[in-house]
Amino acid sequence: MADAPRPSFNRHTDPFVELISAEAVAHRIAELGAQITADYERLGPDAGAEVVVVGVLKGSVIFMADLVRHIALPVTLDFIGAASYGDATKSSGVVQITQDLTRPIEGKHLLLVEDIVDTGHTVHYLLENLATRRPASIKLAALLHKPERQEREVTIDYLGFTIPNKFVVGYGLDVAQQWRNLPFIGHVADS
Ligand code: 5GP
Repeated sequence: MADAPRPSFNRHTDPFVELISAEAVAHRIAELGAQITADYERLGPDAGAEVVVVGVLKGSVIFMADLVRHIALPVTLDFIGAASYGDATKSSGVVQITQDLTRPIEGKHLLLVEDIVDTGHTVHYLLENLATRRPASIKLAALLHKPERQEREVTIDYLGFTIPNKFVVGYGLDVAQQWRNLPFIGHVADS
């Protein structure tokens, strides 16, 4: 079979500087998936049926879609929506759930999947909220972490990349809701 055509975003991406290539993202996600598979397999032969992977809308959807295809267990998928209030540069720390899970998670092993931990307010709030629903365990997978910006202590069990304090875009992350479809992770040229 001939190679599939690769999209060329060059005409559109002048404002963006590539930070992490699509190949590097794919490689790291394969590693994370193998690690997650091994960790949950250690819970016992039936544990896979109990794993619920929950993506935080909308930024995590592309990461989640790729990650779950490297988790060799019978997982189920669900989504949660969260909004964090504040302006573009400063989070107020007030987080609201805008869309909830479709199923109860009591007794399940929950893997929360987030695109980026920036101040940490969003995942901190979600982890606390989800813990009240009595899952068997909760772990966090985040593709990116900006430690310079962190205000809330959060344990990231599965981390893709630590990045500098730049506003990043692509691979699920947006600028004004656009460019989530870029296959690589870039940053805005002057950020
Ligand atoms: P936190 O609550 O950790 O400050 O922020 C989490 C959310 O802010 C992320 O899920 C993401 O939607 C957004 N965010 C934080 N940093 C960036 C960034 O560099 N680029 C983009 N596109 N979104 C970001």
